[in-house]
Amino acid sequence: MTDFTEVGDRVWVARYDWFDVNVTVVGGERGLVVVDTNASSAAARATLADLRRLSTGQVIAAVNTHVHFDHTFGNAVLAAEGAELVAHEEAAAALPEHSATIRAEAAAETDPRFDDWTATELAVPTRTFSSALTLDLGDRVLELIHPGRGHTAGDLVVRVPDADVLLAGDLVEESAQRTAVPGFGADCFPMEWPTSLDLALTLTTASTVVVPGHGAPVDRDFVHEQRAAIGVVAETIRDLAGRGVPVGQALEAGDWPYPREELAHAVRRGYEHLPRTQKRLPLI
Ligand SMILES: [Zn+2]
Repeated sequence: MTDFTEVGDRVWVARYDWFDVNVTVVGGERGLVVVDTNASSAAARATLADLRRLSTGQVIAAVNTHVHFDHTFGNAVLAAEGAELVAHEEAAAALPEHSATIRAEAAAETDPRFDDWTATELAVPTRTFSSALTLDLGDRVLELIHPGRGHTAGDLVVRVPDADVLLAGDLVEESAQRTAVPGFGADCFPMEWPTSLDLALTLTTASTVVVPGHGAPVDRDFVHEQRAAIGVVAETIRDLAGRGVPVGQALEAGDWPYPREELAHAVRRGYEHLPRTQKRLPLI
């Protein structure tokens, strides 16, 4: 059992031990919107039980902040509850393949909670958008904005303007349980992430509560600091590539703001994404 905690007017966050992932619920006249659906059907059913202790309102929509399983594998449970599934078009497009990859990896896990992954029914969001979308809750609106690519190709942030809350998905991570390093995975866009966060920051004020994908709610200063560190990662990649350091030596050669072992994908992807003009052939 995990309790939902109110972080702004009718905005509740439940932080789950498994993956230290956050599920947020926003309430309005027309019903409830759930943002991120937890990491399996079983986890989503538990989340729904936690939600029902809070409110009996109709769940009208479930939003995925991005494609990753810990934010999407509860989709089918929320859909069965009547929720329309909403995501960025790139997240929806990537979900079937991501799901297949994750299910294949689950076979190697010994934690029994992973067994549910094979039983988890995939539900791909049907309501998608490219730049921005509003969800009307009657007495309030939610703004869904794609600030650009970063943690994945299809990241979105949810702004609750009247409560001054921003749900940032994994564009921002606080979780010490998960090393407190932003998730530079195999599908990240390290060179674009800083400017995507710049856009997200324009949606905040000095008193905005920012809910990260993992960990405790943070403030704008925290996001500024994380943006700066991600910017250092991107600029270091740009610098190394510009000086002709081969990608295979870049991780060792760079002076990074995060532990090297967290940045292998970031460096490989960054080199791939840099325009040809900013790369030099290694000197022989
Ligand atoms: Zn993620």
